[in-house]
Amino acid sequence: MWSYYPELLERPVPRYTSFPTAAEFRPLEHDRVTAAALAAIPSGAQISLYVHIPYCNEICYYCACNTGRANKKKRLQSYIEALIREIELVGERIAGPINVSRIAFGGGSPSAIDPEDFVRILDQLRASFDAKFSQISVELDPRDFTADWAETLSESGVTHASMGVQTFAPQVQQAIGRVQPAKLIATAMQQLRDKNVSSINFDMMYGLPAQTLSDLRDSLDQAIALQPDRIALFGYAHLPDRIPRQRRIDSTIMANQIQRFEMAALGYEHLVDAGYQAIGFDHFALPDDPMAQAARAGTISRNFQGFTDDPAPYLIGLGASAISIFPDHILQNEKNVGKYRDAVFAGKHPAQLGVQVSEEDRLHRQIIEDVLCRGRANIGTLSDASRLTGYLESFEKRKLLTIEDTEILCSDNAAPYLRTIAAIFDPYRIAAGTKFSSAI
Ligand code: SF4
Repeated sequence: MWSYYPELLERPVPRYTSFPTAAEFRPLEHDRVTAAALAAIPSGAQISLYVHIPYCNEICYYCACNTGRANKKKRLQSYIEALIREIELVGERIAGPINVSRIAFGGGSPSAIDPEDFVRILDQLRASFDAKFSQISVELDPRDFTADWAETLSESGVTHASMGVQTFAPQVQQAIGRVQPAKLIATAMQQLRDKNVSSINFDMMYGLPAQTLSDLRDSLDQAIALQPDRIALFGYAHLPDRIPRQRRIDSTIMANQIQRFEMAALGYEHLVDAGYQAIGFDHFALPDDPMAQAARAGTISRNFQGFTDDPAPYLIGLGASAISIFPDHILQNEKNVGKYRDAVFAGKHPAQLGVQVSEEDRLHRQIIEDVLCRGRANIGTLSDASRLTGYLESFEKRKLLTIEDTEILCSDNAAPYLRTIAAIFDPYRIAAGTKFSSAI
């Protein structure tokens, strides 16, 4: 059972889907840096691809993603043409043969485009990257999922799907502008299973407007009954000052911090009681799922999709706002779709922001990832290890971790505090602290 220590949760902290985090990204000499990073990929390197579709048929009020309405056919088509051109460009700039282990389509909602366009993009990826043996995953919106889509996924060799479920409670769906009856989700799930999409994830949320503990328990029960292989249970971050579409949500019906903590604790216990294995602080997987196996083996890591069992050291992001990870750089494509398109059609790489990753950053990143993914880390590699150990005393005193020499071992009930513990090893966090979301 988790204990609530509000003083340890009061500071907003990053989600650490990368380190350095996006708050450190700065404008850079994009075309030259990206071309050099792509050219330096060694022959035979294992690479993951991420393809961003920044469109949705309906925009949910809570959404913090880079996405817009898919209501103009011409705009959508010109984006797809630009995406295909970027794929060609990147493929041409990689010198030797590579091994593409995974392709992930995210957004936005990839299911907002026509299935035929999805196939065109996939064909270009296969042509440019020799990616025929890749594991392919797609994020889906159950509201626009059709039998046609199920057929296309099956014929395209897609084996993994992630569905935006968030909540089954009708009044909460209303409050977040995402009305999707339970039957719609169950039907999409059945269509996927019938077409051999063998791994299905549900994205769910706590801390939503008007959501009660009982709503959350009921939503999790409905999800558990459908037996997705994985469930990600995220805390909703209400930041209407920074995300204009969230202003449509009534701020007076939001959960306070203790209620959010109770919801996170309930979700964790409920899913574990139902047989799911907890991974880090917000992912859950059935015990025989590869992600659960990787977590037990201590080999999961963090990337822009959260916890992952993907071992590839390179991630190439394609599409507006997509992020690429190279050993020495993290690069983000132009977010504005018009500017993204202009750059690509001018034959330039569309990266616009980024950060150079130093040797010091790599040491900090390893410790942050070890804390979040494995609940243990050796901080002996840091020159100021003994000073940083001092910041851990308040966690040690509350039995959330133990320290032996330079080794930190987090206890089983430390899950809600892992981000806060990890942030102690983030030298950038003091300057950027207020930009992030609540740790719970
Ligand atoms: S479907 Fe997903 S990406 Fe699209 S607006 Fe809703 S939450 Fe955002």
